[in-house]
Amino acid sequence: MNIDPWRWCDGELDLQSLPAWVDRSIIETIQQELAVLGPWLSLGRIRSVTFALSNSTATHFTCYRTESSRWLCPVPVGLIVRLDYLCRLLETYGSHQSIHMVDGFFHGFEDPEIAEKHAARPLPVIIRNIVDKDLRGKDFWTKMITVDSQFPTVDDKEVRAKLVDRVKYALLYFCMHEAAHVFRMHDELIPLASTTAQGRRGAEVDADVTAGRYLSLYCQELDLDWRRRPFTDDDISEKCWTYSYGVCLVLGSFDIERYPLANFSSDDYLHPTARLMITLSESLYGWSAIIGRDVAKDCCYEPSARGSNAYIHRMDAYWIDCGVSQFHRPTALYFPFIPWAPEELALSPFKEAAQTVPSLYTMYREAVLCRNAFEEIFEQHIGYGDRAKSNAGHYFFR
Ligand SMILES: [Zn+2]
Repeated sequence: MNIDPWRWCDGELDLQSLPAWVDRSIIETIQQELAVLGPWLSLGRIRSVTFALSNSTATHFTCYRTESSRWLCPVPVGLIVRLDYLCRLLETYGSHQSIHMVDGFFHGFEDPEIAEKHAARPLPVIIRNIVDKDLRGKDFWTKMITVDSQFPTVDDKEVRAKLVDRVKYALLYFCMHEAAHVFRMHDELIPLASTTAQGRRGAEVDADVTAGRYLSLYCQELDLDWRRRPFTDDDISEKCWTYSYGVCLVLGSFDIERYPLANFSSDDYLHPTARLMITLSESLYGWSAIIGRDVAKDCCYEPSARGSNAYIHRMDAYWIDCGVSQFHRPTALYFPFIPWAPEELALSPFKEAAQTVPSLYTMYREAVLCRNAFEEIFEQHIGYGDRAKSNAGHYFFR
């Protein structure tokens, strides 16, 4: 039953084989991060996951079981390159006025004829190259040279470090989501749901919820290193802004391909906006439990909402620049409605709308119900055991 996962993803990364123009430093930074992520996530668990970079140019990845309790998660190097270009593209829209587009689909308008027309619209060419899952191998690298030539290089070291951090968090979220499928025993639990479709949908929500928890815990334990060095409220805020932006990079761009075609009300994945809401909400719960709700409101909730809104505003600005009527929307994300968000948030003009647009509330509610149903199966068949009880007061179950 054991397979060699490297066979499925063009082998373990060989840095020498990459085209000369590819920035090695971002790849090495992420390589180091992934080497730490696996042991940190696996600590004290029966199952373990190892992350490593592969030569693959795919847009997606997953964990492969290599032994009865070991998994390997090969992360495509091409995905780092894709996300890096996306970050650089959006950075050129950093100073644009905030723009927020909402279209009929978001309001639950699902006329199949309109959906078909929508699906038939192309994506703006740069975004298409970045997200196209069929663009692989040699063709990928050839197209990426064209993409590369469209952007000025980021020479300012501080700005570059920020972009690298956003890509890093995007990948961490992706990896944490995949690892959650393993650690939360989804392979064993999905068949126990009333239908497989419900089980798979519940597992996806559960993986996002768990990834949200891991994200804030990761910042606390590793990035900020709670025990060893002093850090300020601003440090926490910056982390929350950055990982919220990173989660958007993954959900917003890599779901757009499916967006006009997928049925987010019955397929495995919920609408990307719902996924964003539950992931960020869970990460914010995590902060509240550690630093208290009042501090978290200023330090975490607001920066988190600002981070995700920055992504959406920039993407929408890009879309308008390309010509709204010609292309289909280059993001599947809309304004996130994070419950308990402070009134004065950037998303406040939409807050009222959030309560009146049925699809927004419905999708959040559905995500919560879906997650509760899956949580019940988890508790019934696996449970948290004494270890979780002995950690009472610590919000995260590990
Ligand atoms: Zn998943």
